Amino acid sequence: MKISIVTLFPDMFAGPFAMSMLAKAQEKGLAEIELIDLRDFGIGPRRQVDDIPYGGGDGMVLRPEPLFAAVESVRTSESTVILLSPQGDTLRQELVQDFSQLPHLILLCGHYEGFDERIRTLADHQISIGDYVLTGGELPAMVLTDAVVRLIPGVLGGERSALDESFSDGVTLEHPHYTRPEEFRGMSVPDVLLSGHHQKIDDWRKQKSRRKNS
Ligand code: SAM
Repeated sequence: MKISIVTLFPDMFAGPFAMSMLAKAQEKGLAEIELIDLRDFGIGPRRQVDDIPYGGGDGMVLRPEPLFAAVESVRTSESTVILLSPQGDTLRQELVQDFSQLPHLILLCGHYEGFDERIRTLADHQISIGDYVLTGGELPAMVLTDAVVRLIPGVLGGERSALDESFSDGVTLEHPHYTRPEEFRGMSVPDVLLSGHHQKIDDWRKQKSRRKNS
């Protein structure tokens, strides 16, 4: 899978994308992440990407020409364009699963007051990571990329770990986990997990998984 991220701040991605699963996925060739600097598509000698809003008001708005040019520089018939926006559909694991099956995602990070409304016509999906406002679309793009890449077959060590996780069926929260030591400050590992009895362990884990909001 390829993920192209259109951003004014490509340097923000260096740390998170160089570590853990995202680094491994790229090293193994399972995910290719491409950062596209929106400034490269800016207008005029100052490479302008934003302008004042028609009708007045605070803040600057991203102009359509640079965003259209950036998307058109990488979009193919296999691409799906996702615009990050607080007004979008809230990201959920079902959507993440759908996105992880796609060959090429193009993520559009907004900034300032947001996008000129005409930019939304580029998008196949508009996605919010929650009902709060961040400064830019970079952190939402990192969240979406992390959630999607870890579902690509071969990225996680055991394929089952993604199947058993919270929200894998939309509503269930994963069972509790324990590791060594058996006893810590008066808190013990449940006996069933030490029993070696796989059926009983499975039953206990099912029983301890919770429905969201229950
Ligand atoms: N003026 C906009 C509003 O009130 O809805 C907020 C713009 S925000 C400061 C700038 C950019 O950050 C947005 O265009 C979007 O790309 C990104 N962003 C902020 N919060 C987000 C969220 N919860 N989910 C996804 N993207 C978000």
